[in-house]
Parts: sequence; structure tokens; C-alpha cells
Amino acid sequence: MHYISKNNFVKLLEALQADYEVYVPVKKDKQRFYKKFNQSSDNVVIGEVRAYEPLKAFFSRAREIVAEDFKTDKVPSSTNKPFAIVGVKACDLKGFKVQDHVFTNHDYKDPFYIRNRQQNLIISADCTSAIETCFCMALGIQPYPRENFDINLSQGKEGFLVEVGSQKGETLIDKHSSLFEEMPDEALSERDGQRNWVAKKVEDNIKENDIPHQESYKGIIEKKYESDIWKDEAKTCVECGACNTICPTCHCFLLYDQKSPQHMARLRIWDSCMIKDFAEVAGGANPRPKLWMRLRNRFEKKFDFFPKVADIYACTGCGRCISACPAKIDIRKVLKKLVGNAQ
Ligand code: SF4
Ligand code: SF4
Repeated sequence: MHYISKNNFVKLLEALQADYEVYVPVKKDKQRFYKKFNQSSDNVVIGEVRAYEPLKAFFSRAREIVAEDFKTDKVPSSTNKPFAIVGVKACDLKGFKVQDHVFTNHDYKDPFYIRNRQQNLIISADCTSAIETCFCMALGIQPYPRENFDINLSQGKEGFLVEVGSQKGETLIDKHSSLFEEMPDEALSERDGQRNWVAKKVEDNIKENDIPHQESYKGIIEKKYESDIWKDEAKTCVECGACNTICPTCHCFLLYDQKSPQHMARLRIWDSCMIKDFAEVAGGANPRPKLWMRLRNRFEKKFDFFPKVADIYACTGCGRCISACPAKIDIRKVLKKLVGNAQ
């Protein structure tokens, strides 16, 4: 365990700019958004809760070129430095379990994702508060990172307790060792007290909203496959796809070509299974022509397909889809209906 004062932490971020594009969460109104760090960055919030954007945006870009001119098999090189993403929360790190399964665990391994996973640096942080939509603990996630980070920060009054999570993190600490100091005596108990306080806030959220825990999710989709729940819930959906794009575990994409007289490129963009054309095939056949079928499919993928193929629920309880949905479709309420006795 190491310790870094708040002043030295800013120096660390400045030093990291030599090798990385450094992104920090910055607070605007009540939300936190990732912004590129620079010397005049203000309103940086390392603690609090997850940022508005999901972490996946730094690993599979919303739009990127995946092939150019089609003359070689070479992976188009990135023109950017790797990212150092700061203040990442435990719910987003859990998203890696799904993204890694999709992009690294099959016959075809995605070279872009793998490159970004190898090169990007993750400086995660404990949550120091919870918002009403947080329900990570229902999915078995604590509101502080336990894996998938290079270093993790637990914010204290004067600085941060620093835990190393990878060789990359160890090298980082060695390289900037003059910025770190011995851990003060009270730092560990301060961290544990804060972790317990936030965990209680999330558990209170779960109790108040009566959200079922993951132990009760087994078989819920099969049991309610023909239920009216899907039609009822889809009534207000406007098919915007926000619930997919904002979700740290959703990963589907679309390929298309763009050409000019001088140049040909294949691009990949994020796709959404809520959009009508998503599963349409040549000839116009569509296995999910109705909106309620697509809503059911979204839940089926998260709570039936992924537990079967990867032994994980593809939801981290981050609550982003609740805030982003213009139709106010609330995943917590859908889960409650699925687990309950309603038909
Ligand atoms: S489904 Fe909703 S709550 Fe679950 S991980 Fe995705 S955005 Fe977060
Ligand atoms: S965010 Fe809401 S309205 Fe938009 S597609 Fe998803 S469920 Fe439908």
C-alpha cells in the first residue's frame, strides 16, 4: 500500500501526460463527465460515483476505422497516445468481464480492443457517495474496485491511499516514486470506514426500491418469456437506443464502408439491439419486428445468455440506463417484476 498527497497527485497526472492522454472525471451540474486533463482542469472529482459515459468508450470507440484501402491485413495504427483513465469505478470495471469475453475470448480476437486493453492505464477509485440509481451491490459488486485496475485510489482528507493492481501499476509507482510517501497510520481505517458507509448507502437504495439481488435472477427470463411484462414495459419506448450505448456491458457494433476517389475505409460504430433494423437480414426478414420483442431480447441477453456462456450477468447495476431512458423504463422495476409473481 502507498500514499500520495493531493498536490503530488496533480503532479502525477501532469507527468503521465508524457506517455498518455489523461482523462479525468469533471463535475458539471450534478453529473460527472470525462474530460482531457490539463493544467487548468478544475472541478475534477476522483471519488463520488461513476461518470456519465461508460468506460467502454475508451476501449472500443463509438466510431473507428478498422480497415483502410484493403491492401494489407495491417491493423490501422492509432494516432493517439494510449489513454490513462482516472477515477474509474467498480461497476465499470465489472463491465470488462463482459467486454473481454466478447472481444478476446473467441476464435476471432479483436486487435483494437486487445491493443487498448494492453496499453491503456486505469487509475480507479473508490466511490465516496451513492446516487439514487446505484444498485451495484444487488449484482454482487462492492462500491470499490477489487480487480482490473492498475492502481486504485481511496480518497482521504489530505490525499489518497494507493493500491497496486498490476505490473503496469507497479512500474508506474516505481517510475514516480518521489511523489509517493509512507501510508499515514489512520489511512487504512479511514478508507474502511468510508467504504462501509458507501456500501450501506447502496444497500439502503436497494432496500428502499425493493430491488431483487442476483441470487434470485436464475431462470427469470425463461419463466417470464411469454409474460405481458414485455409489452407493458415497451409501451413508452421510443427506440432511441440510449440504454445500449450508455451501458458498460453492451458491445454490439455495425460495420460499414466509406469511399472517396482516393480512399476506402471500413468503419465500426456502436449498434443497438433496440433498433428495428438491428437483426434484419437480407430479404427483409426480421426475427424481432416488435419493440417489445427487442426489449425482451435485451434482458434475455443480459440475464439469460451471458450467465449461460460466461457465467456472469451482463449488468453492473450502474443505473445509467435508468437515467438515460427518455421513456423512464427502469431496469430495477423490470427485474422486480421478473422475479415477482406477476405474469
Ligand atoms: S443494464 Fe443499465 S444498470 Fe445494468 S450495466 Fe447496463 S446501463 Fe448499467
Ligand atoms: S433508452 Fe428507453 S426509450 Fe430508448 S431504446 Fe432504451 S428502453 Fe427504449
